[in-house]
Amino acid sequence: MHVPSVSHLSAEDPEIAGLVEAEARRQYEKLRLIASENYVSPAVLEATGSVLTNKYSEGYAGKRYYEGQQNVDPIELLAIRRAKELFGAEHANVQPYSGSPANLAVYMAFLEPGDPVMGLSLPMGGHLTHGWSVSATGKWFRPVRYEVRADTGRVDMDQVRDLALKERPKLIWCGGTAIPRTIDFPAFAEIAREAGAVLAADVAHIAGLIAGGAHPSPIGHADVVTTTTHKTLRGPRGAMILSTAEHAKAVDKAVFPGLQGGPHDHTTAAIAVALKEAAQPDFPAYARQIVANAQVLAAALADRGYDLVSGGTDNHLILIDLTNKGVAGKPAAQALDRAGIELNYNAVPFDPRKPFDPSGLRIGTAAITTRGLGAEQMPLVAAWIDEVVQGVSKQDETVAERVAGQVRELLASYPMPGWAPAP
Ligand SMILES: *Cc1c(COP(=O)(O)O)cnc(C)c1O
Repeated sequence: MHVPSVSHLSAEDPEIAGLVEAEARRQYEKLRLIASENYVSPAVLEATGSVLTNKYSEGYAGKRYYEGQQNVDPIELLAIRRAKELFGAEHANVQPYSGSPANLAVYMAFLEPGDPVMGLSLPMGGHLTHGWSVSATGKWFRPVRYEVRADTGRVDMDQVRDLALKERPKLIWCGGTAIPRTIDFPAFAEIAREAGAVLAADVAHIAGLIAGGAHPSPIGHADVVTTTTHKTLRGPRGAMILSTAEHAKAVDKAVFPGLQGGPHDHTTAAIAVALKEAAQPDFPAYARQIVANAQVLAAALADRGYDLVSGGTDNHLILIDLTNKGVAGKPAAQALDRAGIELNYNAVPFDPRKPFDPSGLRIGTAAITTRGLGAEQMPLVAAWIDEVVQGVSKQDETVAERVAGQVRELLASYPMPGWAPAP
C-alpha cells in the first residue's frame, strides 16, 4: 500500500503502476546501503506529487517572468528561509535541478572557460563535476587534481596547498562521493585564501549530518556550499547553493538565467518540507545514529578482516578495499544484490583495476537508519556481507538466496516510509 495512494496510476497505467509497486516492494525487502540514497517521508512524497508540477516560475520571488505566482513565491521564500536557518547561511538558492547543475552554476558564477579548477580526483573519492576529464567541467575548464595519501587514505592537505600555490586555481572544491572521513573546512579555507581561490564545499553526501550536528559545517569557511537535497538530508531529488551575502547575486544569476529555465516548484515545496523535518528536535539523533551505525558496521567488517580505506569512518560512509579477499568489487556487489543487500562497486584510491570493474565496495547507513535499524543490528549486517563475499570466491550461490530470506525477515519489523505490504 502506497502512502500517498497511487490509485489513479493503477487505473490509468497498470504497466507503470506495476513497476512502481515492484520497486516499492524491492525497497521494502532490501537492505539499502547505497551511500547516496535514503527513504523520504510521506510528506515529502506528497509535496513532490502535488499540482505544483503544473506551474512555471522562471525568475525569483517578486521578479518572475510568468503570472500566477501567488502561492509559488511564498513556497520558495519559505524554502530559502528554512535553508538559511538550518545551515546558518546568509544566502540560499533552492532552484538547481540537482547536484550536478548546482555545481555547474558555481563555475558559471566564478569562472571563465579555460580557468583552472582544483578538485579531488574522481577515483580518490571526488565527483565528476569537480573537473573530471569526461565531465564538461573537465573539458571546459583546466582541471588540477589532488589526491588522498596512500598511507592514510585521507586527503593530502600538503599536496592541496602545494598544488594550489603552484597552479593558482580560481576555484577549489572540497567534498566528494566516497570520503569516509571528516572534511577539514578551515584548512581548505586557509589554503584557498593563500592561493586567492574561491572555496566551494560540495556537501551533497553529508548535508544531513551537518544539519544534525554530526559533521562540522562549512558555513563561515567556504565561500559557496552546494548540496543535493536527497542524500543524508532526506529530501526530494534536488539541490541548493548556500553562500555568503557577497556572492548571492552571482550565484542567483548563474542558476537563472545562466543555466536553467523554470524551477521545479513541486521539488521546491518538497525541499521546504524536508528542511522543516531536518529542523525538528529528533533530527540530530537521526544524524548521530547514521554515524554510530556506520562506525559499528565498520568495526565489525574490520574484525572480519576487511580492509577499509582510511581504516574506518567518521560519517555515514564506508569504503571497502576487497583486494585482500581475492574478489573484485563488481561480482561482490552483484552477489550482494542477489542476497538482498544493495550497494555499489566503487574504485578505491590507487585502484589497480579499471573504473568499470574496480576493487572496492561503497556502503552508506542513511537509508537503513531511516528504517530504524540501530547499532545492535550492524554486526549481523557485517556477517551477511562477509558470508556473501566469501560465497563469491567459493562460487556458492545458495548463500545469496538464504541471506536474502534472512534480510527480508529482519526488515519486516522495520516500517518503510511511503509503502507497506498489504495486510
Ligand atoms: C551526488 C553528488 C553530486 C551530484 O548530484 P546529482 O543530483 O546526482 O547530479 C554532486 N556532488 C557530490 C559530491 C555528490 O555526492
